[in-house]
Amino acid sequence: MTDVIAEQRTNWAGNVTYRATALLRPTSVGEVQHLVTSTPRLTALGSTHSFNEVADTDAVQLTLTEMPPSLEIDTTRRTVRVAAGMTHAQVAAGLEARGWALGNLASLPHISTAGAVATGTHGSGVRNPSLAQAVVGLDVVRASGEVEHVSAGSESGSDAASGSGSGSLDAHRVALGALGVVTALELAIEPSFEVATTVHLDLPWDAVEEHFDAVMADAYSVSMFTAFDDRGARQVWTKHRVDEPAPSVDLVALGARRATEAVHPGENDAASVTEQGGVPGPWSERLPHFRSTFSPSTGAEIQAEYLIPAASAVPALRALRPLADLFAPLLIAAEVRTIAADTAWLAPSSGRQSVGLHFTFRRDPSAVAAAVLRIEGVLAPFDPRPHWGKVSAASPSRLHEAYPQLAAFAELARSLDPTGRFRNGFLDRTLG
Ligand SMILES: Cc1cc2nc3c(=O)[nH]c(=O)nc-3n(C[C@H](O)[C@H](O)[C@H](O)COP(=O)(O)OP(=O)(O)OC[C@H]3O[C@@H](n4cnc5c(N)ncnc54)[C@H](O)[C@@H]3O)c2cc1C
Repeated sequence: MTDVIAEQRTNWAGNVTYRATALLRPTSVGEVQHLVTSTPRLTALGSTHSFNEVADTDAVQLTLTEMPPSLEIDTTRRTVRVAAGMTHAQVAAGLEARGWALGNLASLPHISTAGAVATGTHGSGVRNPSLAQAVVGLDVVRASGEVEHVSAGSESGSDAASGSGSGSLDAHRVALGALGVVTALELAIEPSFEVATTVHLDLPWDAVEEHFDAVMADAYSVSMFTAFDDRGARQVWTKHRVDEPAPSVDLVALGARRATEAVHPGENDAASVTEQGGVPGPWSERLPHFRSTFSPSTGAEIQAEYLIPAASAVPALRALRPLADLFAPLLIAAEVRTIAADTAWLAPSSGRQSVGLHFTFRRDPSAVAAAVLRIEGVLAPFDPRPHWGKVSAASPSRLHEAYPQLAAFAELARSLDPTGRFRNGFLDRTLG
């Protein structure tokens, strides 16, 4: 169950070479407990899809990929309990086969359920919060080796805010691996539904600016892709739930063209995207942009993303447009999404209706670092919150400004893990 690392391992994108000296692969919760208590410092690793050092350590990584998958549906409570290392693709397929659905998914279904939740990963939709908001309970192996079940019912209210007690579910939803190893998650579910994706091309900037709120709210999940150049929104993906009223904004009348064949938002073959063309299909095969059976891209990329208050979306897009020339050689795609307010302490959309401004850059770390600095300068007036799983230049003090509950979270992490068993460099820098 332990691999001593002989060769160099990287994250999925290859821009972070892990420094971990060993990779632990427990096959049961009992083994996780044993490994946690017998290892002075370790970091949980999901499916390696983060673009920064959040899942890295100079000590030991622990992955749940060898744990048995499990999926237990409670139709009365409308919840599913899943093994935390399962990917969204596995969970979605299992739910859909039994007639159930998660409310939303990220653009790729390849990521682990625990890793997605731990960083506040989100999809799109004005009524859809981050994926962490679907968590109604979780099992976590603490630094002591004890397994604790945290749920809405087990919240310890003010204890949590003061750092004593085991903390509320909202503290645990987006926890960056700092509060323990999550071995199971209970997620809210609903009856399965169908979605139809329609793509429009080249929505002009004046239409984007004038009708932004209407376009983004016109369907269950809407994404705009842009290069910030004169083409405006190069692609608008409208994911319409077929049990809801049809979209009513006429994008063609606003100057866009309806795509007549499948398009990829970046530079890859359109065979890897989920079906478009307005063909209804199950939520599990429409809400992600990319099919689970294909890689979403070559992986030679680096992503950055900032969540800003929804009301600032149009001014922020306008402010970014002068960077189009800087972006041109570097940007593969930029995506604009909406995220409903979360209650999770560290969700990038915590407490505010948000718009996500996402950038997929070519894997050129120094050019990306320079671009990220420029973006953060331009977005500074809009109170941006960097995505926890992507690159950012934000200093710890800037993160504490952006995330008002970060200090309370750091206090909670210290009280639950006094010897720093789950600490890594990323957490040391971020939590202080
Ligand atoms: C191609 C691509 C597309 C993406 N699309 C989106 C998108 O649409 N929306 C979005 O918001 N993000 C997106 N992301 C970012 C991605 O969702 C996050 O980086 C996510 O955290 C990746 O999950 P992971 O399982 O790979 O986690 P890792 O990167 O392996 O780990 C991330 C964090 O989770 C913690 N963790 C993992 N497992 C556990 C556990 N069992 N217990 C406790 N902590 C744990 C780790 O310690 C670490 O802190 C995308 C990334 C890629 C590569």
